[in-house]
Amino acid sequence: MPIRFLCSPAHGCRATLLALLLSAFAVSNAVSEEKAHWGYSGETGPNDWGDLDPAFEQCKTGQMQSPVDVRRGARASNDLRFDYGSTPLTGLENHHTLQVDYSAGSYIQSGGRTYELLQLHFHSPSEHTLRGRHADMELHLVHRHKDGQLAVVGVMMRRGAFNPVIETIWSALKGDRQQLIDASGLLPRNKGYYSYQGSLTTPPCSEDVLWHVMARPIYLSKDQIEAFRQLHPMNARPVQPLNQRVIHSH
Ligand SMILES: [Zn+2]
Repeated sequence: MPIRFLCSPAHGCRATLLALLLSAFAVSNAVSEEKAHWGYSGETGPNDWGDLDPAFEQCKTGQMQSPVDVRRGARASNDLRFDYGSTPLTGLENHHTLQVDYSAGSYIQSGGRTYELLQLHFHSPSEHTLRGRHADMELHLVHRHKDGQLAVVGVMMRRGAFNPVIETIWSALKGDRQQLIDASGLLPRNKGYYSYQGSLTTPPCSEDVLWHVMARPIYLSKDQIEAFRQLHPMNARPVQPLNQRVIHSH
């Protein structure tokens, strides 16, 4: 409807235009604010995630939250198998982390169930701690079963030798997206791991996530850690109470 029909001297043009502008702003704001803005410090930091949006309530009320401090777990022997192929470099910077969206066809098998690799991303410092100690960074490989259940593999990343797979991902930020990467090059050779039931470590903090935290780290150079921290100086949620959960060691 043309604005001139809403605006007559009887109603007052200025008030009508102002109301129109305000309602247009409210609509566009509602669309862009479907999910609240969140971060890692200040008023939108982890301690306040649960109050930022009703959809984030589990961040505050959940009893099975991640990350956790991992200590010696109850012995168990669940077979974790990796069946990864390569992917073109898509995704990357998303304000909260660097994320590579994985192409279809890469899987893990855990507890007799198959989960497809959706994406991988990074945190600095690590989110999980091993016996109270953070690693420099942590890689998360996020998988989903056909029924929707998520399974995440966490890999500690420590300062050490230059990592060529990481270099390929970091260089894609500068525009070189021609190369493929294979996530199996980001796994430690020794596949021992800890498992427990947890949640997403970012809003909405949804639970029913099966976590696998690799016991051994992978390595990357000091310069490679610094390159990530220039973009994300701190993007790790603090450890959460374990409550009644049991961590299993495989
Ligand atoms: Zn993560």
